[in-house]
Amino acid sequence: MNTLKYKRPKGTRDIIPEEFELREVLLEKIKKSIRAYGYKFIITPTFEHTELFIRSIGDSTDIVEKEMYTFHDKKGRSYTLRPEGTAPVIRAFLENSIMPPAKLAYIMNMFRAERPQKGRYREFWQVGVEAIGIKDPLIDAEVIEMGYSILKELGAEKLVVLINSIGSIEERQAYKSALLDYLNEKEQDGTLELCNDCKRRKNRNPLRILDCKIDGPKLKDAPKLKEFLSNESLKYFEEIKSYLDKWKVNYREEPRLVRGLDYYNHTAFEIVSEKIGVEDTLLGGGRYDSLVEDLGGPATPAVGWALGLERIINYFYQIPRISGPFYFVATVNEFSKGYAIGLLKKIREWKIPSDMTYEPKSLKAQMKIADRLNAVKAVIVGEDEIKLQKVRVRDLETGKEVLVPEKDLVKIYEEEMARRKGKEVL
Ligand code: ATP
Ligand code: MG
Repeated sequence: MNTLKYKRPKGTRDIIPEEFELREVLLEKIKKSIRAYGYKFIITPTFEHTELFIRSIGDSTDIVEKEMYTFHDKKGRSYTLRPEGTAPVIRAFLENSIMPPAKLAYIMNMFRAERPQKGRYREFWQVGVEAIGIKDPLIDAEVIEMGYSILKELGAEKLVVLINSIGSIEERQAYKSALLDYLNEKEQDGTLELCNDCKRRKNRNPLRILDCKIDGPKLKDAPKLKEFLSNESLKYFEEIKSYLDKWKVNYREEPRLVRGLDYYNHTAFEIVSEKIGVEDTLLGGGRYDSLVEDLGGPATPAVGWALGLERIINYFYQIPRISGPFYFVATVNEFSKGYAIGLLKKIREWKIPSDMTYEPKSLKAQMKIADRLNAVKAVIVGEDEIKLQKVRVRDLETGKEVLVPEKDLVKIYEEEMARRKGKEVL
């Protein structure tokens, strides 16, 4: 369609009615599950002061280095469309004096200037949770188990939780210098050639090289982060895993998993599906005990995750065909039209999706439109029916008709919806 004058910006999507309905169903399920774990939902502004993200995510991360949509308003203030939810939620937690322990959840769109591809967009939706003010392996394990269960309920198959402990800030510091020594040595003796991104990362944030899809696998004999963890950190990690064992969560230790953002410590995890490959992470999260304090609050530990809604839809769902109005009210002449308008109003008060043609048309033409709209049943209002105080309901799939009193329209609708439940997404 080259003649179109305007197209949506690259990497963005239109959610058309079919997908909207699917999302509603999925999000209803997700919200129910998240609430069952004691979380309350929150919405933060679409844009924040740029500083918030630089300060929290870290200026040597992919997001801050190259993925943020930053703009200046007329007064020269710098704002950024939120690329992630944790920093804004913690900012809101502090600004609204929400008391810990607090379990906050969100469903929000995020913006990142990435190269668009399947499951990777410039505007996408995340569902996320943050458990703020609790430090115990039990909450880390619960947060992971919740993500795992939700993905399972959504129909994601062959799930594996990849889990690692990245220790405390001090432990990581010691490891960083050991890793740096190793990298320098290998580069000098010519046995290691880093990619361009990693060459830059090396001095700013060498841990992220472990996570690099190109260079990570080359570092098999590099020093292991685990060897730098204190007994306390190791014990914390072991306890999380023992809960996961108890709850039969399928997990695998992944020593090179460090996660992109600066604010994580101790627990880091991702959930992937072996059906679609581990490159396309469905959910990612971790513990971040210093963020609340970094943003000016009292020292408050926290743990959370975010999942990408489009990744679930892309990989595990087909966009369904959706029904049109349930009842399509058809008339035979001006008199019956007058009656039908009143009937339609009643059906709508019963909150049953319904429609008519508005413009005068033959019964045949009306039925054609009902068909095209994919209506479920036609309600035909003729003079005979009006006299009998009844309506004729025609099933548009089978063609079968019944003559019933108006109030039966509710029963017919409810029975049909109950019959469809569970068999179709919608
Ligand atoms: P990736 O390694 O795939 O870039 P990430 O580490 O940047 O992921 P997070 O910031 O942890 O991802 O976001 C959590 C989840 O949000 C991801 O697991 C993914 O499902 C989803 N997500 C991240 N970026 C995008 C994107 N550009 N488009 C669609 N979904 C995304
Ligand atoms: Mg990313």
